[in-house]
Amino acid sequence: MVNSLEMKYFVSRNQCPSCLSNNSQSVYRKKFNEDPIKKYLEEFYNSQGFIELEYLEETFYELMECNDCTLVYQKYIPNNFLMTKLYNEWISPEVIQNEVEKNHSLSFYFSLSKQIHKICKTLDKKPSELRVLDFGMGWGRWCKMASAFGIETFGVEISDERIQHAKKYGIQNLSLDALGKNTFDFINTDQVFEHIPNPNEVLQILESSLKPGGLLKISVPDGNLVKEKLRIMNWDAPKNHPDSLNIVAPLEHINCFTTKSLIDLAEMNGLKWYFLPFYPLIDEVVDLPSLKNNIKTAFQIPKQLIGPFWKKGRELLGKVYVEKPRGTNLYFQKEL
Ligand SMILES: [Zn+2]
Repeated sequence: MVNSLEMKYFVSRNQCPSCLSNNSQSVYRKKFNEDPIKKYLEEFYNSQGFIELEYLEETFYELMECNDCTLVYQKYIPNNFLMTKLYNEWISPEVIQNEVEKNHSLSFYFSLSKQIHKICKTLDKKPSELRVLDFGMGWGRWCKMASAFGIETFGVEISDERIQHAKKYGIQNLSLDALGKNTFDFINTDQVFEHIPNPNEVLQILESSLKPGGLLKISVPDGNLVKEKLRIMNWDAPKNHPDSLNIVAPLEHINCFTTKSLIDLAEMNGLKWYFLPFYPLIDEVVDLPSLKNNIKTAFQIPKQLIGPFWKKGRELLGKVYVEKPRGTNLYFQKEL
């Protein structure tokens, strides 16, 4: 039962927050302040700060599954007050500071630069002609890289500390209601949609701020195997373990997307799945302008045959590699 005390710090989501269907069923229900959820929360927050379980008293961690789009979502989510407490107090400022100073590997930055390179190439414009947005920019890593290419770059972020940090690098912060219409060529959203109470409403705003033909990326934890993981129900499995329930982490990962639920959400909002494979190494090889020449030389193919040979090779590759959406790291395009 939900009483007035619980609803002081929580709000209830009574329909699928992604496809807005009313056809959902409860697949898991346990109180936040009872094991195994209590134990999970204590371990999770005590390792990065603290938790005040009294705010969760008598409220249920309840997972709903949408029978229409397959999204699994938490029915009771923290209200603004509790959300602020969680992200600004429970998670300690020192942990946040370490996050800013975290030294990523060289390959992290290489991969990020390749990603932005690929976006510019796909949009077929010079970096200086592009305007992009990182929705939920965090400490602005993506924005800084895009900005280094000479792209006009904006971010959306709610944490003041992060906004100030990004400002030092010339990244401008915008609020969601100031994005305007047909503003951006590309919108990046990385590990954001699993956290937001109203993904459908937010995507509608982002779509409207995207230029026709523009691209939008949604990257979220992969929930395609959520039902198997819920059957195993191992709350002790660490984050990188195959059985980990981090994809439905209480209070934080409130939306658990499958490939289908992401595509349904995008299509409802006028966005179509866009095939933009991103494999840094393969891209590097394929980008080599001399690849065609090397093949020609290696196989001693006469000049007039290299064209048909190239075409045949691509056809064969296309048969092996079927272009279809996989996972939950997907690109979408707004219709022209
Ligand atoms: Zn749904």
